[in-house]
Amino acid sequence: MESMTNLGINVVNLEIEKAVQLGLGRVELCLGKEKLYHDKLKKFYKMVNEAEKFNIPYSVHLPVYIEEWYPYDYFSAFFIDKNREKRELSFKLLELNLEKLKDSNAEYFVLHFPGICKEIYSGNEFEKILSTSLDRLNDIAKNYGVKIYLEYFGSNKNFCDYREWISVIRKYENLGILTDTGHLYFASIICEFDFMEALKVLTENSDAFHIWSTKGDKAYCQCESYKTFHHIAPHIGQNRNDGWAFDTEAVIKVIAKQKKPVIIEPSIVYGGSEYVIEGVQSIVKYF
Ligand SMILES: [Zn+2]
Repeated sequence: MESMTNLGINVVNLEIEKAVQLGLGRVELCLGKEKLYHDKLKKFYKMVNEAEKFNIPYSVHLPVYIEEWYPYDYFSAFFIDKNREKRELSFKLLELNLEKLKDSNAEYFVLHFPGICKEIYSGNEFEKILSTSLDRLNDIAKNYGVKIYLEYFGSNKNFCDYREWISVIRKYENLGILTDTGHLYFASIICEFDFMEALKVLTENSDAFHIWSTKGDKAYCQCESYKTFHHIAPHIGQNRNDGWAFDTEAVIKVIAKQKKPVIIEPSIVYGGSEYVIEGVQSIVKYF
């Protein structure tokens, strides 16, 4: 299928067939919400097969393969952690995943990179860890012939300045930045910067996007809307005046200009699948 639009959706909560019917041009695959790991993996394989069947481009949000030697939440990441063993675990998990996925046709891989760190490292200890880890990540990506996009978060005090993300990551051929509107909004609260200004700067330097919204002016566990609804699907009717994180239309207009992959990343708690579908229909024409 010749892709008509760069807009796509994460298909944890939506059938690929439905995404195609809605006129979306790509999908993102990740482990689903099934209770047992075995069932999550089965669903993942089914989605890969379907994406291939519909001939729709897809990206993969890592990790897909989890082992018991990785005893943390699988979306946690320790690539720039102070603890060397933890860093090694993250690299081991990444390489295991790329090895098992080496025959897939994923257009790119999405990776959580910075982890959560509230402590500022002293001296230039952090700079060394950061550059060593990025070099290594790029080498791994090169070895597997893949692109790995690092999702921007403001959660690591040593590496939360989006301008620094741009300047250090841009020089790596096989790495890129993924801007996620929800996490960027939370970063703007935690790190106290202007959301729209950051969005504009990051957008010009991003290779892909995730889009979802939330309500209120607090971040993560202080955000009631996030705790209740998790990721809310973007919808053109979302305005700051009504308590939404940002004016969704304004955000979409900034992002759509770049003609880069944009993945809607919704849960279905807020308004059910109907709200997700209505939201998609309200924004698809911008892309
Ligand atoms: Zn995301």
